[in-house]
Order: sequence, then C-alpha cells, then structure tokens
Amino acid sequence: MANLKDILVLDGDGIGPEVAPVAVDALRLALGSEGVEMRLDHGLVGGRAIDETGTPLPEETLAKAQAADAILLGAVGGPRWEQLPMAQRPEKGLLGLRYGLELFANLRPALLFEPLAHASSLKSERVSGLDILIVRELTGGIYFGEPRGVSVDENERVGVNTYVYREHEIERIARVAFELAERRGGRLCSVDKANVLEVTQLWRDVVNEVASDYPDVQLSHLYVDNAGMQLVRDPKQFDVIVTGNMFGDILSDVAAMLTGSLGMLPSASLAASGKGLYEPVHGSAPDIAGQDRANPLAMVLSAAMLCRYSLDAPGAGAAIESAVGRVLDRGLRTADIAGEEVRTNGIELVGTRAMGEALLAELTDVLKEAE
Ligand code: NAD
Repeated sequence: MANLKDILVLDGDGIGPEVAPVAVDALRLALGSEGVEMRLDHGLVGGRAIDETGTPLPEETLAKAQAADAILLGAVGGPRWEQLPMAQRPEKGLLGLRYGLELFANLRPALLFEPLAHASSLKSERVSGLDILIVRELTGGIYFGEPRGVSVDENERVGVNTYVYREHEIERIARVAFELAERRGGRLCSVDKANVLEVTQLWRDVVNEVASDYPDVQLSHLYVDNAGMQLVRDPKQFDVIVTGNMFGDILSDVAAMLTGSLGMLPSASLAASGKGLYEPVHGSAPDIAGQDRANPLAMVLSAAMLCRYSLDAPGAGAAIESAVGRVLDRGLRTADIAGEEVRTNGIELVGTRAMGEALLAELTDVLKEAE
C-alpha cells in the first residue's frame, strides 16, 4: 500500500504512558481521514528500558527507530534512576536516539492559543496571534566542539570549549529553515554573534549564500543579544528563526515562556531523510505521574508536527491543532493551564483522560466538517 507509514511509539517514563496514547489515537483518526494508514510499533527507552533490559536504549529500539518513518516519544527519566552513573541514565536513551538517527534539526514552535493568552509572561496584546518557529542546530557548535575540558596551566585551572561549525553543517540547517519559512509566512531571521565570533560570521556568510536558492523567503539577521531583546519586546515580528545549538537552546526557552505552559509545547527533531523524532518539551513529570493530572496537549501537538514534517500530511496536522484550539475554547483545562481562571464561569478542570476524550471528540467533528 503506497500510503502506509511506520510509526514507532516510545511511551517512556512518568506521564509518558498517560499522554502518548492520546496522541496515537489523534494520529490514527487524523491520518485515516487523509488516506494514510499507520502501522504502529512500540519500543522501550529510558528508565523502563533500563529496568527491563539493563540499558536506556536497547539495540532493538534503535533498529526499530531506524526503520520507522517517524517516532513519537513521551518522556524519559525520573527519581528512580537518578542514582545511576551518568552514562547509564534514562536521558542517555534520548541522546542515543538523536545521535543514532542523525537528528540535526530541532524545531520548537511557540504558538499561542488565544484562551491561554493570560498565561504568558507578557501582556496579552503582545502575544495574541503569536506563531513563531525556532529552528535550532542540534548536533554541532560549542556543545560538541573539541578540544574541551578543564586542565591546569601555570598553576591555575583553565576551562575550554570549542565553538566550531563546518560549512556543510550550517548549509543543511539553513536549508531546513528556508524550506520551513517557504511553507509558513515567508520570513526567516538568522541569529548569530558575527560581530564577535568568527565562527558565526561564517554562519552568516553561508546562510546568505543559501538564500539565493530561496528567492521567495525574506531573510534578515540579528545578533543573539538583540534577538533575545526582540523576542520579549515584540515577538510577533518573527516567523522562523534559525540559529546554532547554544543560542537555540536559550532562545527556544525564552520563546516557550511567551506561550505560558510547559504542558502545551511540542517539538520535533529531524534528520536529512525527513525522518523525525517528535516529543513534548516537558519531561516525565514524576510528581504527577499516574494521577490522571498530566496535560496531554503538548504530546498531541507533537503528533500534529509529525503529520506535517515527516508524513507530508499537513491537513491531518492542521485538524489536530484545530481540535486542540476547540477544547480550549470550550473551557476545558488540565490543572497546569487552569491558572486563576478556574474560579470563572465556563472553565472546567479536567484530568488527562477527560481531556483526551474531549480532544478526540472535537477532532472527529473537525474532520467531519472538512469532508
Ligand atoms: P518536567 O518537565 O518533567 O516537570 C516540570 C514541572 O512541570 C513539574 O511540576 C511537572 O508536574 C510539570 N509538568 C510537566 N509536564 C506536564 C504536563 N504535561 N502536564 C502537567 N504538568 C506538567 O521536568 P523535571 O521535573 O525537571 O524533570 C523530571 C524528569 O524528566 C527528570 O528525570 C528529567 O531528567 C526528565 N526530563 C526528560 C525530558 C525528555 O524526556 N525530553 C525533558 C526534560 C526533563
């Protein structure tokens, strides 16, 4: 069958097994309506993988991930495994997947759902309608450069990290960002520190060279200090932002705060092949695991990204996003996004299961209306 897609689901730890099934149900519904059949497989990663196989990323899981079109991951980690040596911790499973699948492009949208505008750290009018996508290079830059370490020189300690990018690494992330900008609002802002760091002057030069292949995208450049300022001053000026590993790490968290809650933030990490790993930004939330209190919407929005970026099914992605908007419009809130509103009329506090059921009901309606 031409339109058969292999999806690997890795529930992971903590709230992962509570939120992942909601996303899988939403995927099945939305893809079905676009004529895409999903072949589902499951695997172990993180703490549960350690418990059952002795390693956070069993070879079988990596092999399944390599064979899949896309991977949906809940979250890994928890206090149960914190005493293990660094190299055996659950988080190593995630790093191993990123490395093994060559996931070099990290996509973090900051999309504001209107009913949650109050949860932003900025005034509602500054963030109303916000829709930014941050594209972060994930496998290079100062986090991986050699030499690195702390040594002793002339009787004092010296710490060194190396900020290095090769031309091809800059070019491939730039192309991802230009292509995403073409599919969105047509604007791309590249963030660097070219006034001080030679490596980021190279970054700027390569991005400018790649730009000639994307005449429809309007390219601008900002120094990272200014970009941070602009993100909190006037975030709606941005469409797509592309930047290196460290600047992206920082700016994507700043942008996340503009939209309010951790429970609403999806992410994608893509390989050159288009294969992607899709996961919520939040962790395994051990403090609320197993209590029917987790917000499943970040996981559900990660599934929407999976439709858009790995399955070329943007209609399915849009339907899922629209269903998320509707459950919020209806006043349904898990505790993390309820805020002070709980005391106002029309706001209903719900758990993971009830939120999941409402989401699927709205999605069914959205898909029916689109027929
Ligand atoms: P966390 O994101 O798990 O939780 C932070 C706070 O946000 C907690 O109070 C939690 O209850 C709340 N929260 C998070 N997601 C929520 C959701 N969907 N709905 C409602 N509330 C939610 O971060 P943490 O507590 O620092 O880390 C817990 C574990 O998760 C650690 O072991 C950490 O290493 C791991 N972690 C994993 C990932 C990942 O798998 N990608 C990312 C971050 C942290």
